[in-house]
Amino acid sequence: MAVPAADAGGVAAADYDVVIIGGGPAGAAAAITLRRYGGLRVALVERRPFDPYRPGETVSPALFPLLEYLGIAREGFERQHLRSYAHAAAWGSADLVVRDFLFTGQGSGLHLDRMAFDAMLLDEAARLGAVVLQPAELLRITPGPRWRLALRQRGCALSLSAAYVIDCSGRSSVLVRQQGCPVLQTDRMVGVYAYYPAGMARERLQQTLVETTEQGWFYLAPLPQQRTAVAFMTDAETLRGLDLLDPACWRRHGLATEHIAGLLRDLPEPQAFRQYPIHSRVARLPAQAAWTAAGDAAACFDPISSLGIGHALSSGIHAARVAHAHVGQLEGLGESYRESLLAHFKTYVQTRRGFYSSERRWPQAGFWRRRVNAVDEAVKEPG
Ligand SMILES: Cc1cc2nc3c(=O)[nH]c(=O)nc-3n(C[C@H](O)[C@H](O)[C@H](O)COP(=O)(O)OP(=O)(O)OC[C@H]3O[C@@H](n4cnc5c(N)ncnc54)[C@H](O)[C@@H]3O)c2cc1C
Repeated sequence: MAVPAADAGGVAAADYDVVIIGGGPAGAAAAITLRRYGGLRVALVERRPFDPYRPGETVSPALFPLLEYLGIAREGFERQHLRSYAHAAAWGSADLVVRDFLFTGQGSGLHLDRMAFDAMLLDEAARLGAVVLQPAELLRITPGPRWRLALRQRGCALSLSAAYVIDCSGRSSVLVRQQGCPVLQTDRMVGVYAYYPAGMARERLQQTLVETTEQGWFYLAPLPQQRTAVAFMTDAETLRGLDLLDPACWRRHGLATEHIAGLLRDLPEPQAFRQYPIHSRVARLPAQAAWTAAGDAAACFDPISSLGIGHALSSGIHAARVAHAHVGQLEGLGESYRESLLAHFKTYVQTRRGFYSSERRWPQAGFWRRRVNAVDEAVKEPG
């Protein structure tokens, strides 16, 4: 079915089969899937232009088959990002252990240029006929026989209607919250990032470095375009206790490490300093409803797992199939999607517990105790 064109004033046509909230990898993957394989009328609403300071996600070669499904050629794609050959970690002891992607047999991973990655996926969605509204502010979303979405874009009011809505709004999880969907959250982790306008020395150029401390763990990653991100991951309460939102305190903590310190000393003043929520949680999505969620809005993971981007793409694809079935009045896929999401999260929690248990140097430290007991201490998301 042809996608209704924008009118002469640039206002998008109002009626869609599916509206997607959020234009990160999950939203873009859902839009591409719906256009490429379903031919439905799709609009995607993204509230802002992309932020140049992004965490510098590392992705494994397991991402490539998903991109291939979305019609994105590996060769062209790889050139836009920095190759990642290995992870080095001082985790469980002060010694650095290097794990090389080479031995996975799938080739190297990548340090993503997130702005380029997100823009590429949205361009592909638009090329296939999805209407991409960016930046557009979502003012109101009202359920009914058809969803009604009130938006504002460049000062103009827009009203969209849709048979189905997919929440891909990341950790904001706009619709998951609005619909009162139950969410299981296992912790309150946060990451404090400093972004530097300098690359790494050649021998360190294409690997990440992780190092634990009594209060959490440091992460250093090269970013494309000669930049570097250094982050400290800890619990919200520790962040406040150690005053780690103060860049001077944060740097002192970094300089007390064994491996990160040497690299930190050589870096210039950071360009930006950001805090991100990085807690893990999963939503119990409805089995049969005119909406679902994908990506971080559906489930999010500790960055140590490097699961986020791959999950965003695969769940975006899966959610698109659920939406397509619903629009075609075929039920049943919602339930299998929900169950696979919960099963994936359960496996992740077990793996994460095993991983954190392997650091035994500070058994009394709150951060490490909480990681191992995370599921027992599971809390419900407020609101
Ligand atoms: C510090 C940190 C480090 C990470 N490291 C890694 C890593 O190394 N490897 C990895 O694979 N993953 C990593 N991740 C996870 C990864 O970044 C996320 O899992 C991934 O971005 C999720 O994609 P998404 O599309 O679900 O959400 P997002 O990328 O968050 O996109 C959601 C979009 O929705 C938009 N939005 C929100 N609310 C609205 C609204 N009301 N209206 C319209 N639009 C809205 C937002 O502007 C945003 O663009 C990391 C995450 C963090 C925070």
